[in-house]
Amino acid sequence: MVKHGKAIATTAYLGLGSNEGAREQALVKAIGRLKIHPEITVSAVSPVYETDPVGMVSSPFLNAIAAVTTTLTAQQLLRVLNDIEKSMGRLRFQGRNTPRVIDLDLLLFGETVSTSRRLTLPHPRMKERRFVLIPLTDLAPELRIPGEDSSVAFMAGKLAEKYPEQGVRLVGTLDQKLMEPL
Ligand code: ADP
Ligand code: MG
Repeated sequence: MVKHGKAIATTAYLGLGSNEGAREQALVKAIGRLKIHPEITVSAVSPVYETDPVGMVSSPFLNAIAAVTTTLTAQQLLRVLNDIEKSMGRLRFQGRNTPRVIDLDLLLFGETVSTSRRLTLPHPRMKERRFVLIPLTDLAPELRIPGEDSSVAFMAGKLAEKYPEQGVRLVGTLDQKLMEPL
């Protein structure tokens, strides 16, 4: 799994979302940019879900999760995610909870816990979001979020009871599209 020399690789989970423009194409493009980064290996991509927006009035999202291994630090990885967002036309000043062509969140970085505003780990809202826990369950059902006692699969089930109105519909996989040249 380690791409370069003896550097220690960390497994991280990234949340991808798009609710503006060519949504599926945006997910594929963002994954392509991750793949070509010399210090990032994309090890798995979840199926894609169409999800009702949470905390905002807008058109539905497409969401997926990528598992990566990387020799970058968490801060460096977040910067790469922000650079990809910017290069794909995401406008920062639009602020939180606005439609976006691409949103890349760092959900988990190994066992790292961080409470800074610039980088909070685990991602502070992931535990309340079905559109995160459902695709994460597809990739790693037994995974435990640092600080939690139960698996993500169990947590996803609990959320379904708590927020039945958070619609999350399976769309399909990106497998075929990820094989095509960028
Ligand atoms: P959201 O994804 O919640 O809608 P934005 O993407 O607009 O919010 O803003 C992300 C902001 O949150 C950035 O300023 C970033 O530094 C900060 N942030 C803190 N922790 C994380 C994290 N784990 N992943 C992504 N952004 C984070
Ligand atoms: Mg974000």
